[in-house]
Order: sequence, then structure tokens, then C-alpha cells
Amino acid sequence: MLTDTHTHLYSEAFAEDIDLIMQRALDLGIQRFFIPAIDSGFTEAMYELEKKYPEHIFLMMGLHPTSVKDNYKEELAHVEEQFKRRSFYAVGEIGIDLYWDTSTLEIQKKAFKEQIQLAKKYQLPIVIHCRDAFNEVLEVLETEKGDDLFGIFHCFTGTLQQAQLAISYHMKLGIGGVVTFKNGKIDQFLNKIDIKHIVLETDAPYLSPVPYRGKRNESSYVSLVCKKVAEVYGISESEVAKITTKNSKDVFGI
Ligand SMILES: [Zn+2]
Repeated sequence: MLTDTHTHLYSEAFAEDIDLIMQRALDLGIQRFFIPAIDSGFTEAMYELEKKYPEHIFLMMGLHPTSVKDNYKEELAHVEEQFKRRSFYAVGEIGIDLYWDTSTLEIQKKAFKEQIQLAKKYQLPIVIHCRDAFNEVLEVLETEKGDDLFGIFHCFTGTLQQAQLAISYHMKLGIGGVVTFKNGKIDQFLNKIDIKHIVLETDAPYLSPVPYRGKRNESSYVSLVCKKVAEVYGISESEVAKITTKNSKDVFGI
């Protein structure tokens, strides 16, 4: 059994053929889909997806750093309101993104910290989105670290040293399509990291693995990520599937 720990299956990119997309993944043994939130504009679509596939869909709730704008306080209130109504499996995706907008760094930090408090309150993992902001994210983790802070560093693409730092803050590394890229670099050192720290993801519909690079990504492609990770570690794909699914259970508690 494989687990896609990060997939935006409620995205408009799948509006036309979600049943086909789900079936294709299920047929390959991908049975667990963890769904990160972006902002209030997608909440209804997430709930609808869950209603359709209640045994396979596991929702997170949170405010994505690229959606941290002038109205971020209202957006955070929306997140908190959802947590009061029902349960989720993680606070995510949250973090800092300086690729799209550097002017919002201060409020991104605020929103990140506030949502870490939420995760601690509900004893949940966080799922971190970090783009061009490794030091900034680390700075926040340093002030918030402790036994009650844990989660996943989603779409990890850093160096070995950065991987070790992330792990030291109780984070697992979310490995996706980038591991199959020729210039992705992480395939060159990944086997120096104990596989117990690794979970698999697609980030569908983004970041498709080879040979679909540049095309729409989908959860069934997590099997291609699994294949590459098996190659890097020199173990079988079924072993990788088993270990990384167990790792995802350790993080999400299910
Ligand atoms: Zn994402």
C-alpha cells in the first residue's frame, strides 16, 4: 500500500475527471491521500472530495503562505473556525514562500507561527511549505521547537545538511517528483538519510515526475516516486511502500 502524503485532488485541474484519477491511483495500490489546504476559497471543494471518498481522503486545514495577504487575519479566523467544527489530520500547508512575494514576509511569519500554535493546541503535525525561505522557516522552527512540534517538510529539495536540520526539528522529508529530475540533486544524497525520515508525495497537480515532467501531475504517479526512491536506497519498491506508509502513519496518527 502506498500513501500520497500531499495531493491537491480538489483542484480545478481535476474537476473533469476526478473519478478516473482516483481509480487510476487506487488500482496501483495508492489508498491514502492526505489533502493540504490553501485558503478559504477551497474549503468546500475539500469537504466534497472527502464526502465522495471518505475511506481514502484525509484532510488537513491551514493557510498556504502564498495566500497570506492583507486579509490574512480573516483567513486565519476561517481556519480556526473549521477546527472548532470538526477534526483534521494536520495543520497545512503552512510556512514561508519568498519565491512569489517577499513583501509579505513579516505577515507570513506571523501566520506560520500562529498556525503552529494551533497544531500544538490540537496535538497535530504541521505540513510545511518552504520556497526560497529555508533560513526563515528554520528561524521560526527554532523558536517553536519542542516535543509538541512535529510534521513534514513538504517537497523537500534542499541539501543533505538542510535535510539533517529539518529532521532535527522532528520533521519528516516529503519526497516527490523532484527526486526523478536530472537536476533535482536530492537523489544524490538521499540514501545517506535513514528512510524512516521519508514520506512520499506528489503535490498534484504540480511537479510531475519524469517522464511526465511539465504535465499535470496526479496521485497515481506517486508510484514513480516510489520506484526512484527504491533505486536510490537499493531496496525493493514494496519495501519502500511499506516503510513510507508506516512513516506517514507515525506522523498523521492514522
Ligand atoms: Zn501543496
